Amino acid sequence: MPIPYGRQDISEEDIRAVCEVLRSDWLTQGPAIEWFEQRVADYCGAKHAIAVCNATAALHISCLALKLGPGDRLWTVPNTFVASANCGRYCGADVDFVDIHPDTYNMDPVNLSAKLAAAKKDNLLPKVLVPVHFAGQSCDMAAIWDLARHYGVRVIEDASHAIGGRYKDEPIGSCRYSDLAVFSFHPVKIITSGEGGMVLTNQDALADRLRLLRTHGITRDPAMMHNAAPEGAWYYEQVGLGFNYRMTDIQAALGLSQMSRLDDFIARRRYLAGRYDVKLKGLPVRCPAQSPETNSSWHLYVIQVQGSRSTRSEVFDRLRKSGILANVHYIPVHLQPYYRQLGFTAGRFPISESYYESAITLPLYPGMTDQQQDEVVQALATALQ
Ligand SMILES: *Cc1c(COP(=O)(O)O)cnc(C)c1O
Repeated sequence: MPIPYGRQDISEEDIRAVCEVLRSDWLTQGPAIEWFEQRVADYCGAKHAIAVCNATAALHISCLALKLGPGDRLWTVPNTFVASANCGRYCGADVDFVDIHPDTYNMDPVNLSAKLAAAKKDNLLPKVLVPVHFAGQSCDMAAIWDLARHYGVRVIEDASHAIGGRYKDEPIGSCRYSDLAVFSFHPVKIITSGEGGMVLTNQDALADRLRLLRTHGITRDPAMMHNAAPEGAWYYEQVGLGFNYRMTDIQAALGLSQMSRLDDFIARRRYLAGRYDVKLKGLPVRCPAQSPETNSSWHLYVIQVQGSRSTRSEVFDRLRKSGILANVHYIPVHLQPYYRQLGFTAGRFPISESYYESAITLPLYPGMTDQQQDEVVQALATALQ
């Protein structure tokens, strides 16, 4: 049996929770959404949580809630999934990138500081920063938030990899060092709702805007209406332009059920990551470095091929041939044809580019057995020769 790089873990309890919704009166806009939102908000210690149909939609309405628009700029990192940058393009904003730190593979606050200082001189400061907690390890958010406040920039944490991770002894998603944080519940991420995303924030005004943007810009709250006297119980108003980005109750029930398993998932991921660290010693690879202020959710375990006679591509192909379905995260976003057409060229973000050249993501998921992990290590040792 091939070993995938990631896999969801669905229990009989999860299945029962979904079936209960299917037998109930609501398939969407029922009670499960609010239960799921409350559960995630409580877990993270954030005031508000807004569930949406996926994290890409969550990033989109987060940018809109911060009023990102044409003529504005959004900065993220090249080492991420394209959605972290595309959300800026959806709003008509220009996108630019900050290179990563060579050890953590996260946004480098030193590069960010220099780039902000230069942008300020040219009057080209970004409106929004999107740091990405790569592989589940938090960015240096205290440093990023200090810089953001100094320059008047808003911050959306792309925490798609990172529910269950911690930073400075607080859960990722607390929004202590950001305006908004976004989770993904795609099946390959830490917990799943099939498709799904969530935005967290401590700011009431942003939460109101996000709820409007999720549902066509429509409100039933008299306090938000233009018409002082609602015309009847049927009455609602569209007060802005929004979308249908709702999550279904079927998805929310699965997400809620998975929340009760989150800590077990993280414990298993941490155990397996620690086991990789030990078992890979002596092989010509570099294991992922962890900063002492972080406690990763270990969405991904990424090695760098270093000092091997074989190239990354050779090692990768040999792994795939032996049934180890390794992956690579990420092709630098600025090198995608769409972003090249916008003027980005190779060499612009050298740390992300050289990181990418030797990166391989090894299989890691809660259902992976110790024995399967030993198979991965064995196959890797052979592939590196
Ligand atoms: C998965 C992912 C997304 C998008 O999540 P979806 O829920 O699939 O829309 C965004 N950013 C990062 C870093 C991701 O890994």
